[in-house]
Amino acid sequence: MFENLKIGVLGGGQLGAMLMRHAIDFGLSVSIMDNDVNAPCARYTSSFFCADPASYEAVLEFGKGLDVITIEKEAVNIEALRQLEKQGVKVFPTPGTIEVIQDKFSQKQFLQSHNIPVVPGEAVQGKDDLHRYENKLPGCLKKRRDGYDGYGVMVLRTSADIENAFDVPCVLEELVDIKQEIAVIVARNEHGAIKCYDPVAMVFSEEKFILDFQMAPAQIDDSIRKEAAAIAEKIADALKLVGILAVEMFITKDNRLLVNELAPRPHNSGHHTIEASITSQYEQLLRAILGFPLGDTALRFPSLMMNILESASPDSNVREKLPQLLSLEEVHLHWYGKKGYRPGRKVGHITIGGNTMESVVSKAETIRKILN
Ligand code: ADP
Repeated sequence: MFENLKIGVLGGGQLGAMLMRHAIDFGLSVSIMDNDVNAPCARYTSSFFCADPASYEAVLEFGKGLDVITIEKEAVNIEALRQLEKQGVKVFPTPGTIEVIQDKFSQKQFLQSHNIPVVPGEAVQGKDDLHRYENKLPGCLKKRRDGYDGYGVMVLRTSADIENAFDVPCVLEELVDIKQEIAVIVARNEHGAIKCYDPVAMVFSEEKFILDFQMAPAQIDDSIRKEAAAIAEKIADALKLVGILAVEMFITKDNRLLVNELAPRPHNSGHHTIEASITSQYEQLLRAILGFPLGDTALRFPSLMMNILESASPDSNVREKLPQLLSLEEVHLHWYGKKGYRPGRKVGHITIGGNTMESVVSKAETIRKILN
């Protein structure tokens, strides 16, 4: 139906690969740009541009002749996207939306200006500047840009920790007493139609801040569920979003909802939507950016998504455990095909389904034993 439409995606990681799979369902041709020649998307398209999505010249060159550009990571060149828009290329999410979200501090200011509850935080220039805020410790220090999977996050307990702090522009946030972490994915199209997925629970590994597993639906009170959806929809409207947006939130021990961070692209909190929802987050993104009606976001069955991390030592190969995982019912494997060995790196994920959350959790416990 859209054979002649040329879509470009900035970023060629696993999120891009899952997006491509859905683009194929829609008959679209997809060009990908990533600076890693071995990026997961590279082997699925003949239209792979090996260059940095943060480079002005490269993005401008990539965008020539495309109809629509979208992203699967935020570190992209905004000026080039604005230039391409002037040349008639549709860029969704818009450069303005990406720009606000790229920087964790401007994101916070934007949310505060729309009366969205966020974790309070200060902008700090670097290590030396942190000494001005010693009285705010303990706190959570985050790089303003380019953090992912916890790589740009650290806890500062006392002023002695400043010595080892990131020495780049950061946000120093209050350390939140977290009861539970949830995420909501919301989609909005150019006509202002909005659809929200049910909140999912996200459980992070304590020492590394990396997502350990995710459960859909989150086991939370109905009032919090409704409030979380209302917050996500309010943000999507405030941003005039065209595309999809993941809104990560904390439920505090005293039952307040605080927005942690936003991602205007497919997100790992929505991996399960491929199997467990009527419309996957990837199809929803395509519907949103192509101006089509948004799809039904209802869950078909309870699910749990678990990341598969590269083995800590090259002697134990996680790949050898995959057949055992696949011998279990309703276990869906997504293997990212990343090249090279890096301990602890995300190399795939599984989505586990079942009739009840109890049966899903019990299967997850079996899987955890296999993987450990
Ligand atoms: P990333 O962009 O790398 O995913 P996040 O900002 O989402 O970084 O932080 C990663 C994790 O660190 C969160 O999911 C949460 O567990 C913890 N965290 C982040 N901010 C705070 C905070 N202000 N207080 C307590 N824990 C936090």
